[in-house]
Amino acid sequence: MVIAHFSGRSRLDACPGALQVHAAADGGLARVRVPGGRLTTSQLRELAGAASTYGSGVIELTSRANVQVRGLGEGGGFAARMAAAGLLPSATHERIRNVLASPLTGLDGGGITDVGPLISELDRHLCARPALAALPGRFMFALDDGRGDVAGLGADATILPTGPDEAAVVLAGVDGGLRVLLDAAVRALLTAAEEFLAELAAQQITAWRIGELEDGPARVAARMRARSGEYPPLPGHDPARAAGTAASAAPLRLRPVGLGPVGVVERPRASADRRVALGVAVPLGRLTSAQAELLAGLASCGELRLTPWRGMVLPRLDRKEVAGTAARLAEAGLVTDPASPWIGVTACTGRPGCAKSLADVRADATLAITSVRNEPADSGTLPVHWAGCERRCGRPRGRVADVVATGDGYRLDLDGRSLACADIEETAAAMTAARGEL
Ligand code: SF4
Repeated sequence: MVIAHFSGRSRLDACPGALQVHAAADGGLARVRVPGGRLTTSQLRELAGAASTYGSGVIELTSRANVQVRGLGEGGGFAARMAAAGLLPSATHERIRNVLASPLTGLDGGGITDVGPLISELDRHLCARPALAALPGRFMFALDDGRGDVAGLGADATILPTGPDEAAVVLAGVDGGLRVLLDAAVRALLTAAEEFLAELAAQQITAWRIGELEDGPARVAARMRARSGEYPPLPGHDPARAAGTAASAAPLRLRPVGLGPVGVVERPRASADRRVALGVAVPLGRLTSAQAELLAGLASCGELRLTPWRGMVLPRLDRKEVAGTAARLAEAGLVTDPASPWIGVTACTGRPGCAKSLADVRADATLAITSVRNEPADSGTLPVHWAGCERRCGRPRGRVADVVATGDGYRLDLDGRSLACADIEETAAAMTAARGEL
């Protein structure tokens, strides 16, 4: 998103980390970065144990495929456990390791290339460059494998493969024609981050994102083009322009796509590997320690993937066992049915974690969804976001039905129309109608 005439943030970014804990109304809030959403089963168990020992016992999944734990007290016990689990590899760079990646990459034959190896390469180089510790904690990278699922989620610097060897570099959602060899993709993302910092210094404002700079995407792209000599030439492009970056004929159009994988994901028929992946939705992105332990126990390949839709993917499950796995997850309150009314419903923190909130939005959203559970109508694919005040923190990108607490109930906003709802019953009915497109 480009913010026109943005005159600068009035304060420095105070995004929480595992070490830089935010004092929320319900205690300390620590956020742990999980590049590409990749977690080992032992890391998930450590998170579950540490959330129970030091916090509220709940792991919250974020829209950047990171995790956070609330209700922490004084002391560094939580951070020490995260460091021991390999989830805090750099004290100086912990808050800048915001890396989205296509959650199904390498699992289902989708996309153009498996971006899995690029996640660790990017993370390693990010942490190794001292100057990049100055990036704001909101700055975000995305590695899309070519299917376009994370390219439209508003990262500052995105790689989107456009062919087997070539990728577009998209800045703040704007395709300015930058193209690089896939082999140079990580280098291009690092260059984008460096040039964001250079442009930020030149403009002498406080900004957290490329889109917040004056003419940010174009100016950062111009700076990157000036460094194109550092890149190998792109085959088939004008050598005068294509030493690393080139002008594209038609800009790519990027937009948010889908609500994330839910249910069994097959491999292509031709694949010799007959294992499947299972997409799991986590209601309102809140995972109890017991649910996390269960997921870790069922992830037979030793790895899980967090998604930017606040869900998880269990990779490489035995096809014969996947129905039993899904049943156990459903018993524990997790969702593997793509038609579930929980799909696409998000909520801000609300009460008691946020002092600004006019309601306990998560409890109210749960009541509303539970009350429509037996409705015969399809719950639809329109995302619904519940918020405790007009700030609407955590609102997904794109077209969304907003359910906003007013102090006298809720108000549902969609496409410029508003409907006041006095109680949860009315709000649930309005939400169901909106998802059925009114
Ligand atoms: S939207 Fe309002 S109530 Fe919800 S977390 Fe943000 S500031 Fe708090």
